[in-house]
Order: sequence, then structure tokens, then C-alpha cells
Amino acid sequence: MLIAMAALILWAGGYAVLCAVKPFAPCRRCDGLGTIERFGKTKMCPRCLGKKLRIRVGRRAHNAWRRTHQAGTR
Ligand SMILES: [Zn+2]
Repeated sequence: MLIAMAALILWAGGYAVLCAVKPFAPCRRCDGLGTIERFGKTKMCPRCLGKKLRIRVGRRAHNAWRRTHQAGTR
């Protein structure tokens, strides 16, 4: 149990650093290619619209928190 908790804390810390250093990750749908193959034809990825990147979930949460905090303070 203690090991599991330590691993979780370590993972969360590592993920926080990752979100701070690299806020963008490759698109999950196209694996960072920007295009997908469908019915034998190459199409622009509908998920990222050819941008090849997605914003990390942790970074999006941080951005939302910061926006809320900014709106709530003078
Ligand atoms: Zn994509």
C-alpha cells in the first residue's frame, strides 16, 4: 500500500513537470501525423484538424484553474 501511494505521488509529480515543460502531446487519433487513412484515402485528421498536437489533460486543467483564479482576484 505504501509503495503504491509513493508510486502515485511520484507519477503525479512527474506528470505535473511534464505538463509544465511540454504542454502539447501528439494527437491520439493520428499519432502526430496530421492525416489519417480512411477507406484507402488519406484525409486530414478530424480530431486535431491537421495541427498534429493535442493539449495535455493536466495542462488544460491548470489553464482552467488559472483562468478561474485570474477572474476571481483583483
Ligand atoms: Zn490528429
